[in-house]
Amino acid sequence: MTPPARLTVLAGPSAVGKDTVAADVRTRFPNVWLSVSATTRPPRPGEVQGVNYHFVADDQFDRMVAEDELLEWAVVHGVYRYGTPRQAVLDHLAAGDPALLVIDLQGARQVRRRMPEARFVFLAPPSWDELVRRLVGRGTEGEEERERRLASARVELAAEPEFDHVIVNDDVHRATEELVRVMGLASPPVGPVAAG
Ligand code: 5GP
Repeated sequence: MTPPARLTVLAGPSAVGKDTVAADVRTRFPNVWLSVSATTRPPRPGEVQGVNYHFVADDQFDRMVAEDELLEWAVVHGVYRYGTPRQAVLDHLAAGDPALLVIDLQGARQVRRRMPEARFVFLAPPSWDELVRRLVGRGTEGEEERERRLASARVELAAEPEFDHVIVNDDVHRATEELVRVMGLASPPVGPVAAG
C-alpha cells in the first residue's frame, strides 16, 4: 500500500533560496503541491495574485485568523503577516499529493505543534557572509527592511537544531536533489531486467 502523503515544511532564513529550491522541486516533480500563503504584504513587481501569494487586506487576514482558517501564521520581519490556509493543505494531503510549505521559523514551530507527523527541513546558507551577500544582492528590499531581515536571519539560524534535516544551499540543484531525497520523491533506480 502507498503510504499516505506527507507534509514537508521548508524553513530557513530570508534570502537563503527557499523559494528557488521549492520551484526547482516543482519543475522536476509537478505532482508536488506547493502551498500558496496569504499575506498582508503588497505584491512586488511581477508577483501574481493567487500564484505567489494570496495578497489580502488586513481585515481579511483578521477574518481568516478569527475563523481559524490558517494552519499557522506569523508576523514576519516585524511588519507583514503571512499564513498558510489550512483547508488546502488538508485537501491536497487527502488527495495523496506530497505537500510543501515554505514558511518562516515561527510558522514551522506552529506546524510542529499541530502536525508533528510533518517532516521539518531547514535550508541553511553556506555561511553568514554568503547569506548577507544574497540578501543585499537581491536588491528587492530597502536599507531598513534589509536590516530587519538580517536580524530575523540571525534568530532563524540559531534554530537549525530543531529541524529533522538540514540542507546547505551551496548550489540550488544539489540542494534540490537532497530535498527530493528527503521527501522520498526520487524514483527508485531501475534494476537489471530479470533474465528469462
Ligand atoms: P517574502 O516577503 O520575501 O515573500 O517572504 C518573507 C518571509 O515570509 C519568507 O521567509 C517566507 O518564508 C515567509 N513566509 C511566506 N509565507 C509564509 C507563511 O505562510 N507563513 C509563515 N509563517 N511565513 C511565511
